[in-house]
Amino acid sequence: MLDTILPEGLRFGVLFDRLITVHSLYIRAEEALASFRARNGLSCPAGCGTCCEGFLPDVLPLEASYLAAWLARNRPERALEIAESGRLPERSRGCPLYDPDKPDAHCTVYPGRPLICRLFAFSGIRTKNGRPSYSLCREMPHLPPPRSGARTWDGPDLEALFGPPPLMSDFGAELEGIAPGDGGRRAPLTAALPPALRQVLFLAGLGGRDDPNTDGNDPVLPPLPRAS
Ligand code: SF4
Repeated sequence: MLDTILPEGLRFGVLFDRLITVHSLYIRAEEALASFRARNGLSCPAGCGTCCEGFLPDVLPLEASYLAAWLARNRPERALEIAESGRLPERSRGCPLYDPDKPDAHCTVYPGRPLICRLFAFSGIRTKNGRPSYSLCREMPHLPPPRSGARTWDGPDLEALFGPPPLMSDFGAELEGIAPGDGGRRAPLTAALPPALRQVLFLAGLGGRDDPNTDGNDPVLPPLPRAS
């Protein structure tokens, strides 16, 4: 499985160890969501991509690195293009990695997507008093009895009608704990991905290093080669 996520040159070192931990956390999160979803007969409307159409994820540096590693391994030309240009393709709104015309999942980086994208619609939050709460996505139809008449549940109702949902806050805190030195600092995906790609491509040895050009903003990473 790891073969499909990480470029060969990136299979050692601190970043590698952390990405392995991210990978296993993502798997656990997806298993917890699949179980909650199956247990409760929940699903998205067919073909729906509304959550990506009006949303741009804020990501931790490590999530950007995981996505960068997946792109470098699976879409190397696209990875180089983003790293070189320093930006993602423009979209008038929402996530630039969303493609409404792509069949099955509309996300063009689905296996590398950040945590929040894996948790959409089938996870809960903690309310201010710390109680788990779960809300139906606004695109989901009302549920049949005994869960009709409400779209948000918490406390004993949630426990009785759904069982405990996987919680965004808990998985998010665990993710932040993998690289505590990052201080939980998040940035929009569009800002976080290009420098993460530059780092991953450098570490994986997938970018040439002869061009002395540099923008001076990234003292750690050497510049990528210019496209010819
Ligand atoms: S990364 Fe993928 S799943 Fe997440 S918002 Fe963008 S298109 Fe949607």
